[in-house]
Amino acid sequence: MTLVPEPRFFPVGHRIAVLVTEPVGVLDYLAPEGGVATGQLVLCPLGPRRVLGVVWGEGLGGFDAAKLRPVIRGLEAEPLAPDFLEFLARAGDYTLTPLPLMLRMATRAPDLDRPTAERRVIALAGDPPERMTEARARVMQVLADYGGASFAPSELAQLAGVGTSVVKGLVTAGTLAEMAAPRDLPYPRLDPDRPGKPLATDQQAAADALRHAIAGGRYGTTLLRGVTGSGKTEVYLEAVAECLKAGRQALVLLPEIALSAEFLDRVEARFGARPGEWHSGITRTERRRLWHMAGRGEVGLVVGARSALFLPFRDLGLIVVDEEHDSSYKQEDVVFYSARDMAVLRASLSDAQVVLASATPSLESWVNAASGKYQRLDLRSRYGEAELPDMAAIDLRGEEMPGSRWISPTLAGAVEARLAKGEQSLLFLNRRGYAPVTVCRACGQQVGCDQCDARMVEHRFQNRLVCHQCGETKPIPTACPSCKVEGRMAPVGPGVERLAEEVAARFPDATATVLSSDLFHSARALKETIAEISTGKTDIIIGTQIVAKGHNFPRLTLVGVIDADLGLQGADLRAAERSFQLMRQVAGRAGRQPGDAPGLALLQTHQPDHPVIRAILSGEDERFWDAEALGRQGAGMPPYGRLAGIILSHPDPGVVADFAQHLARHAAPLRDAGCELWGPAPAPIARIRGRHRMRMLIRAARQAPIQMAISDWLAPHKPPTNLRLSVDIDPQSFF
Ligand code: ADP
Ligand code: ZN
Repeated sequence: MTLVPEPRFFPVGHRIAVLVTEPVGVLDYLAPEGGVATGQLVLCPLGPRRVLGVVWGEGLGGFDAAKLRPVIRGLEAEPLAPDFLEFLARAGDYTLTPLPLMLRMATRAPDLDRPTAERRVIALAGDPPERMTEARARVMQVLADYGGASFAPSELAQLAGVGTSVVKGLVTAGTLAEMAAPRDLPYPRLDPDRPGKPLATDQQAAADALRHAIAGGRYGTTLLRGVTGSGKTEVYLEAVAECLKAGRQALVLLPEIALSAEFLDRVEARFGARPGEWHSGITRTERRRLWHMAGRGEVGLVVGARSALFLPFRDLGLIVVDEEHDSSYKQEDVVFYSARDMAVLRASLSDAQVVLASATPSLESWVNAASGKYQRLDLRSRYGEAELPDMAAIDLRGEEMPGSRWISPTLAGAVEARLAKGEQSLLFLNRRGYAPVTVCRACGQQVGCDQCDARMVEHRFQNRLVCHQCGETKPIPTACPSCKVEGRMAPVGPGVERLAEEVAARFPDATATVLSSDLFHSARALKETIAEISTGKTDIIIGTQIVAKGHNFPRLTLVGVIDADLGLQGADLRAAERSFQLMRQVAGRAGRQPGDAPGLALLQTHQPDHPVIRAILSGEDERFWDAEALGRQGAGMPPYGRLAGIILSHPDPGVVADFAQHLARHAAPLRDAGCELWGPAPAPIARIRGRHRMRMLIRAARQAPIQMAISDWLAPHKPPTNLRLSVDIDPQSFF
């Protein structure tokens, strides 16, 4: 276990331990002029370089004091709070991530070592101008709305919807003045006292329970469950209000944050100002500003993607993880972590509350709620008039399905009926591109990626074959790459693009839109298309899983799942769970028109009796979770047992196999700690980007010290050059 730092001040010349963002980790230095406190960010000499570090505590000693170098200087940024440092240490221990890497994640803001630059801003300076025009009034209104905040001239003009000349005119008139202000501006204050919507009874009860928990000022986790549209967001916004009233900061994590313009609008409507936003789409300036303001406590609410969890909040009182089951909360790159689990860890160290919201919770959260570890709050119905859609299976074994057709006559009939009423239909197929396989009809050879053990997927809009593993593309061949026969290459199976072709042929008078992440060059373009669909501009939406995520399409009354069997087959631990969640979410998109029949969801399947299909049709979600939980318990699988995955990769298949075997032969530390080792075996995708991949799985009982056992096991073995080894604690899949 990593030692957790104690808050302390160290005078100049004192021997201190500094954690630097380099593999060496913690090193001793001398405190600089003026002294430093625990948590302060500093610049340190490391060989000929200057590196970023954080003061961790008293020096560790152990080498010649005369050789110690002083810290170059302390940085202006607010010191990292003790609970945040502890979080980094514990999260590193849990995920087996070296502490320097954790610090790197936590300091991902541009120009941390540069002093805060100033910028020119506009602020109120005098009385109202003698000549008040409508444009001038709008500018004054913005300043009033934002409670005296200051803006860059162009920013102010933009917010007011006027030209910059109007702002300049007010400066000349002496009403406003241009002055210097720090570059990183505080965020406008959110007003928690503005009234929210009047809540329905079960919403009220849930909101009260959350308010009560937050007022307690202690750690706790709540699973807030309710179907899409039941009003969960409305409820957790009440929790945010309570947190803001207590003077603490709140964080709302969303999957696909770049798509949630609607959510930001809702926050603004509720609290009178927009929250801080943190995701890959924000500018460097915004990134820097939010990072600093989180640290100073000058942003009340942050809405962000999973990495927002590593912002240095001064006093975090609430973390909401919306759509908590979503797989995008799991990061599987450099640092392997689950933002949902790390949210719980972080909150437990900061006396904060966690709200996990979902219509289809992860099995982990479901079991934790059942055992009483989490509080569970249920919203039982959709808010207001809305009802869950009717559900039915279309048994494809009884449908006329000629080749290259994927819409059954029954589903087509249902689409026709919506078209006649001017309502929207959604056809869901979780496959990007035109066709998943391109095959030679002469020799049977399928076109694969040169760098990966994966088939190339035809993307007709791009007119290329694309590897979904590495992104490599090649032209669609006219001759077989293997037998060289011309003109026999054929697409096999459907992707959304091919489905769009069928839709165009069968419903020639309807307008259709394909929603697939690869068809949009930017998050903004996707957002605009989604906004257009919401206003009813298209009759048939054809989409991959991006349509499952919380968009509100008010005219949508029919959902057709083209291939409900798609996710059921995998041997993966979570195949059933994922499939269930995805189909339940997609089906939930079908709403009712006011005063009309409920929406309809139709699942095309060859196995209508499969337990997952039956669970979805019957609406007996709890039966599904309980059965799934029982199965996992019997197999000693998560959440009842623990799993860790080890992936080794190397360009040479012999090198990776040898090292994997070597590790397996020296697995006594695992066995001594009660862990089982499975493998090594080739990973399900045995080669990616030219690297050959082997996999091992480690299974242990719930309470086994799996991290310690893995460290002890791996530590003595130095991997060959260029071998990559990653450890994934609580893997989401068997990769
Ligand atoms: P969920 O988060 O469970 O999907 P939302 O909170 O987004 O549900 O609510 C679904 C819709 O119902 C939204 O348009 C929301 O504004 C509306 N809504 C929910 N609760 C209320 C309420 N108490 N009063 C008015 N509208 C509500
Ligand atoms: Zn590839």
